[in-house]
Amino acid sequence: MRQGLVSFLLFGLLLVGMACTPESKTRVIAHRGYWQTEGSAQNSIRSLERADEIGVYGAEFDVHYTADNVLVVYHDNDIQGKNIQTSNYEELKDLRLNNGETLPTLESYLKRACDLEIRLVFELKSHATPERNREAARASVEMIKRMGLEKRTDYISFNLDACKEFIRLCPDASVAYLNGELDPDALKEMGFTGLDYHYNVLREHPEWVEKCKALGLTTNVWTVNEPELIQEMADMGIDFITTDIPEEAREIVNTQTR
Ligand code: MG
Repeated sequence: MRQGLVSFLLFGLLLVGMACTPESKTRVIAHRGYWQTEGSAQNSIRSLERADEIGVYGAEFDVHYTADNVLVVYHDNDIQGKNIQTSNYEELKDLRLNNGETLPTLESYLKRACDLEIRLVFELKSHATPERNREAARASVEMIKRMGLEKRTDYISFNLDACKEFIRLCPDASVAYLNGELDPDALKEMGFTGLDYHYNVLREHPEWVEKCKALGLTTNVWTVNEPELIQEMADMGIDFITTDIPEEAREIVNTQTR
């Protein structure tokens, strides 16, 4: 009898505890992977592995579509003087990143991701025409699905044509816009699941954080590399912080009391 009462009280306490659990804390995304660490380089396969090793939420990476339709992982438009989008893959394939890795194809990058657990934050770069942006988005989604990574991939882009294609092709995926000029209502209307803006945009519009929560949109800010700024964004209740210092950022958000 007494035991039953104790169990009942413990169960009650558990329910109260669940109801009082604070809203989820800010999570960290390694910008271009974790590259400021030995043996790594921006957007390298090693940067993906390192981001996975330190246990942050996600690794962000940038993708271009070559002239002959190969998706490659790299940030800048040019690599060693060659424009990626107007070059054939054959002209690029032997070029090396700063850590000695050859320029990764999306396929090789995703193959490695299949053995890891980290979330993939897939940025499709802007291409020359609306149609080329849509083609690149379609090829990207096809490869993510072929690798069975659709549940682990979030899409982001500065390009609206690419974003609209992601939204159309992947109604269950997270798709966030990077460019900063659309307000939460406009994003919701277009089918986005969140925003991923420069931190100054949310400093100018702090009310957008609550607005996004009310609309069920996620908030992400880039690229937040100062500890005080990481703290400020976490205190604002931002969902995700994209940063070049993921280990430090993780320590800061782990001590978050909100
Ligand atoms: Mg990027």
